[in-house]
Amino acid sequence: MVKPEKETTIYQWSGKKILIVEDDLITYKLFTIVLRNTGVQIFHAETGQQAITYCREKQDFDLILMDIQLPVMDGYTATREIKTICPRVPVIAQTAYALESEEYKCRIAGCSEYLAKPFRKEDLFALLDKYLSAHT
Ligand code: MN
Repeated sequence: MVKPEKETTIYQWSGKKILIVEDDLITYKLFTIVLRNTGVQIFHAETGQQAITYCREKQDFDLILMDIQLPVMDGYTATREIKTICPRVPVIAQTAYALESEEYKCRIAGCSEYLAKPFRKEDLFALLDKYLSAHT
């Protein structure tokens, strides 16, 4: 008997734009691989300053995935600045430090959600869908 494939939810976010702020190129690549069949349009900033510049220039991202451990300017600072430029954009913090104090600091900085690395694909998708789904 053939074991049926585990059914996975198909996410479709065509027309949505997300900005991934991530200095680690392998992690960034991983995000693009995980998201490649979702139709979402991905932009990449390697630094907090670059993310701020993108937000000033475009201001039309549907969501920002923010690494907290960034060189020069950390993700908290970048998020606070971005929130003054486009206050409505949801920011999901992603950090390798799974501490309660870390989550608190992310929320204080203006992040809507918190994703601990390494993350599960299902958790990432559930978080993204909360903000990118056409039904919301
Ligand atoms: Mn990093």
